[in-house]
Amino acid sequence: MITGKNYIGVDTSAKNSRTYSTFNPKLNKPTEWIFHEASKEEVNAAVEKAAVAFETYRTFSDRKKAEFLKAIASEIESLGDELISVYVQESGLPEGRAKGERGRTMGQLRAFATLLEEGSWVEATIDTAQPDREPLPKVDLRKMLLPIGPIVVFGASNFPLAFSTAGGDTASALAAGCPVIVKSHPMHAGTGELVASAIAIAAKKTGMPDGVFSNLNSSDLEVGQLLTVHPKVKGIGFTGSTNGGMALYRLASQRKEPIPVFAEMGSINPVIVLPSALEQKGSEWATQYAGSIMLGAGQFCTNPGLILGIKGQALDSFVATLGSEIEKLDPTCMLHPNIYEGYEKGKKELSSQPKTVEVASHNGNVAPNFAQQKVLTVSAEDFLANPVLHREVFGPFSIVVQCKDKEELITVTQELEGQLTGTILGKETEIKTYTEVVNALVNRVGRIIFNGVPTGVEVCPSMMHGGPFPSTTDSRFTSVGTSAIRRWVRPVSFQSWPSELLPEALRNNNPLGIMRLVNGEHTKQKI
Ligand code: NAP
Repeated sequence: MITGKNYIGVDTSAKNSRTYSTFNPKLNKPTEWIFHEASKEEVNAAVEKAAVAFETYRTFSDRKKAEFLKAIASEIESLGDELISVYVQESGLPEGRAKGERGRTMGQLRAFATLLEEGSWVEATIDTAQPDREPLPKVDLRKMLLPIGPIVVFGASNFPLAFSTAGGDTASALAAGCPVIVKSHPMHAGTGELVASAIAIAAKKTGMPDGVFSNLNSSDLEVGQLLTVHPKVKGIGFTGSTNGGMALYRLASQRKEPIPVFAEMGSINPVIVLPSALEQKGSEWATQYAGSIMLGAGQFCTNPGLILGIKGQALDSFVATLGSEIEKLDPTCMLHPNIYEGYEKGKKELSSQPKTVEVASHNGNVAPNFAQQKVLTVSAEDFLANPVLHREVFGPFSIVVQCKDKEELITVTQELEGQLTGTILGKETEIKTYTEVVNALVNRVGRIIFNGVPTGVEVCPSMMHGGPFPSTTDSRFTSVGTSAIRRWVRPVSFQSWPSELLPEALRNNNPLGIMRLVNGEHTKQKI
């Protein structure tokens, strides 16, 4: 049941009289639920509890933390149809998507549990002492990854489950040994509260310290800012707009003790269509890309917002098919009127840029908050000269950039801002003659796709969901997949410690049976 209260650890709290509601974009009216904004006092209480909880939680074995993560997944499942119904009402997304995202969320939690149960993720590295080394003896040094402290998570509007309350940021931070305080996304506060209640039950059932998780309601900037500057908060995970991510990044770096902000801020995900792709199956790719641009009303961080090709008849016919195919598709509902307005504003702004030509647009009557798709085309020269055209328009919108030759394609690719993904469509034999384009693209992206679409982000250890700025604030880390845990840990070296006083991962007898790097050799052997 939704109460509208904050979770301060396992306690619910509603001290602030300021309230807000979520919104049903399909019905175009507020939902029935009222949420209490977290007060300053409640923000402080959540952080203080998290800081105390950290002292215990960080000492828990990986197996105990894994139990907690698995229990969260089970409790989310136990929320049953209520969770799906609230998700659908608050997001305008279909039931199938809600169920798929719930499965993904539970899958992520269980994947981190498996990582913990295996145990080698701590990267135990041991260099044993050489007391007889000349001219100086070598000391015993043993290094492993340890958690950094309480983390604040800003959930994403476009993934109410998988990138929100118990999403990848929360799951990875809890797996690392860090308590989490979620700044609930105001567009799906009810979904967030239900998931928070599941986490609170799981925490109680598995004997977690109170404060290992809190969920704070907020519909304006103050709560997020108070959390970001709180001295006991040690890291931030964020998914959202560039303005939001950068505001928090600046705030965190101006603190007396600056802290890391891992912000994923979006991307236009360039797709390079080589001549062989156009000749071989140009119309097939055009149809597939019309679907990819429209997927989830274009509200994916990997939505293909930019398509690059070399001018000619083949590109003309690709553009024509893309236009006719995308016009056939029905607009769908966006997450919230604010997202819809942002889409309309961005679409208008880019469409009014000089030298852009409309390829296709949906102009019929649609229900409120339904996104009408649009595709533009522009020459590479005009694209390069106008930074406005490089902006992300969050929704079913894309631009086809026409280059006069391969040299210009290389230049455009080299000039691209950092992106989450880049895609190359073409024949394997042709790629070899486009190595400069491929190299330029690899340099600008976190994930490079060959003959596919960028939408669809697999959750697995080899996934890289991150990229050079401005797609994220730190291109060295992913926010999807089990390596996301690395954002919340720091390496610590233990020098000359007796084996029995070391963390288990570093002891001579390797009681956890994990893979370690011992004197330069990967092994599970005892020392
Ligand atoms: P947002 O405006 O960046 O907000 C995300 C979260 O951060 C919200 O909880 C918001 O709080 C908080 N926040 C934003 N700016 C803040 C600041 N200066 N100080 C403290 N907290 C701040 O994003 P959104 O509302 O989810 O979506 C808006 C736009 O973001 C979309 O239209 C799209 O362009 C982009 N977006 C990108 C991605 C992506 O793929 N990376 C995903 C989703 C959205 P309040 O809302 O309570 O103020």
